[in-house]
Amino acid sequence: MARKQEAEEKPVVAEDSATSEKLRQIDSELIRLLSERKKAIANIPEAGYQIGEEEALLSQIINLGKKYDLDAYFVNKIFKDIQDYFKRLHQDRLADYHRQATVADDQIVVAFQGIEGAYSHLVGQKFFASRLDRVVFKGLLTFRAILEAVEKGGADYAILPIENTTAGSINESYDLLAQTKLSIIGEEILPVDHCLMAIENVPLSRIRRIYSHPQALAQCSTFLSSLDHCTVESFVDTAMAIKKVKDDQDLSEAAIGSEEAAQLYGLTVVKRDIANTRENYTRFFIVAREPVKYDERIPCKTSLIIATKHVEGALVNCLNVLAKHHLNLTKLESRPRANVPWEYLFYVDFEGNLEQPNVKIGLEELTGEVSFMKVLGSYPAKTNGIRRQADTEIAARNTTPISDTEPPPERPKGKIAIPEKKPYRLAGRFTKAEDTRLKVKNVVIGGGTFVVMAGPCAVESDEQINLCARAVAENGGDILRGGVFKPRTSPYSFQGLGFEGLELMAHAGERYGLPIITEVLHPTDAEKIAKRADILQIGARNMQNFPLLREVGRLNKPILLKRGMMASIDELLAAAEYILSQGNQQVILCERGIRTFETATRNTLDLSAVPVLKYHSHLPVIVDPSHASGDWKWIIPLVEASLAVGADGVIVEIHPEPEKAMSDGEQSLNFKNFEVMMKRLQRLKNLLK
Ligand code: PEP
Ligand code: MN
Repeated sequence: MARKQEAEEKPVVAEDSATSEKLRQIDSELIRLLSERKKAIANIPEAGYQIGEEEALLSQIINLGKKYDLDAYFVNKIFKDIQDYFKRLHQDRLADYHRQATVADDQIVVAFQGIEGAYSHLVGQKFFASRLDRVVFKGLLTFRAILEAVEKGGADYAILPIENTTAGSINESYDLLAQTKLSIIGEEILPVDHCLMAIENVPLSRIRRIYSHPQALAQCSTFLSSLDHCTVESFVDTAMAIKKVKDDQDLSEAAIGSEEAAQLYGLTVVKRDIANTRENYTRFFIVAREPVKYDERIPCKTSLIIATKHVEGALVNCLNVLAKHHLNLTKLESRPRANVPWEYLFYVDFEGNLEQPNVKIGLEELTGEVSFMKVLGSYPAKTNGIRRQADTEIAARNTTPISDTEPPPERPKGKIAIPEKKPYRLAGRFTKAEDTRLKVKNVVIGGGTFVVMAGPCAVESDEQINLCARAVAENGGDILRGGVFKPRTSPYSFQGLGFEGLELMAHAGERYGLPIITEVLHPTDAEKIAKRADILQIGARNMQNFPLLREVGRLNKPILLKRGMMASIDELLAAAEYILSQGNQQVILCERGIRTFETATRNTLDLSAVPVLKYHSHLPVIVDPSHASGDWKWIIPLVEASLAVGADGVIVEIHPEPEKAMSDGEQSLNFKNFEVMMKRLQRLKNLLK
């Protein structure tokens, strides 16, 4: 027997090495082709660069991949990375082209605070990725020292951390920017994945001392408070803390820093993902002696420092000037003015490039409203991340008129008087004339997009929710739905997996890059669910559960409010008012069918509610054809009708095996039909353009 196995194993080994040789060849070929791509890009004429072109190319590539049996999600991910890299190369080239003062010799000296392996060093490598062979990094002790190095010519660029999404703004950096004559020429966003590392894989219980930068320690406070046998010590930067652990060779010491730094110093990661929040990013500025004039076609941001006049409404007047010139504010930060007690400087970032005429005119006008203004520079924006379909659609709709001959549908123009009898104010267009647009991660809801939320009625298992998430992502859906607390007519039906299910769903959403929506049944659960879900759903049965509405009204999370099956349109808007009046302005309305005498469908989808709601209210309106019709056969035509009638999106139920679903299987689409639905939607969108 043993002999037989031996005899059989041999050819397998031989085949293995043949296979790995083949794979090596294919990988080398891929690298060679990428370098061809790089050369091809280098030959694109200046005018050949078109923003938005990548999305069209990407969808062609995904379709091609499907023909060759390649997973659409995988192709999408790889090609987005490829496009990002080449876009960066191209932008660098455009920037070089527009650079006024070029760096004298070929070498580029980049100053950063800390030592090799610090987060700032990683950012430098990312920002200068296309020119790394020419870069010399110079680690200095303080932020002031790196800026001085650039001012005095000892370095060409400095990497300055400016804010963190968990810990907030880095005040010292802001204060230094006010004093320096340097210009911001770039920004970079670094996802911060803090790890705990030691000289070898020691159990947590053996660690006694943990070292890191104070910001990193603050960002991991929850994890650290669970280690009551440890003391923590601050270091000037994370890499220095790591170096200390390496030098001491003491098994009771550990440091917090990046995985890259652990590798660089030869330490072992003992625990990953230890930050309080998963989505943890730090934003850095890249500063230089001279500003760079970026091509108008590169989406840029501009940063300013202003001091307002000592008059009533001074700041509002400044912001109004920006709004008047359509300059979208992305950040406003105030800092005390050095040596002038109780006066403040405002740091303003907005979307726009100093080369654009509206920015030039806007800033000219702004000078009349301020007592001091300093333009820090324009630079390619990195905070908007990879553009999702929704963003592209907005851009497309903004530039493509529906038709020259057809007038646009009438909407109330400007604010209208509050009608006395209406049970709502904030939900109506009398208080806010323009459409509400909500941003959920990278998905925009309202104001011209059409989002698709899809997923199972109930989360049943890790496998089921991951399969659904993958189907949503692969077919271009935007948001993953799934119930974990189910409002069931019978107490004997499946009630959902509760918080355990929420955790499974959150992981599936993260894995496939999809925000998640789930229903909240009880006011006491709302806050806890809001920590993991991106949108909270109030079900039809709870539309008038006023304590629940009040509770979610205190959250800072979008709420999808479903119309009760016996509720009028005015009652739906009055229920939305309960949420809005508590402070939360992020409400999405949902038409999900009402009870009528008709029994051929589960409920009657009231499509006329869509234009009526959109006439009276600025809130986005989503249609749920699944609960309205109760039968998967009617979903696709009703989804198409929802788009045609002007809804802002749909929410549909899908399941890998609808016949085995634990709830609402009869109205759930299988994946094949979901794919058909998405294709038909795309076709209709093209027709409606
Ligand atoms: C649901 O969306 O899971 C649901 C229960 O819907 P509704 O509240 O509209 O019945
Ligand atoms: Mn359902």
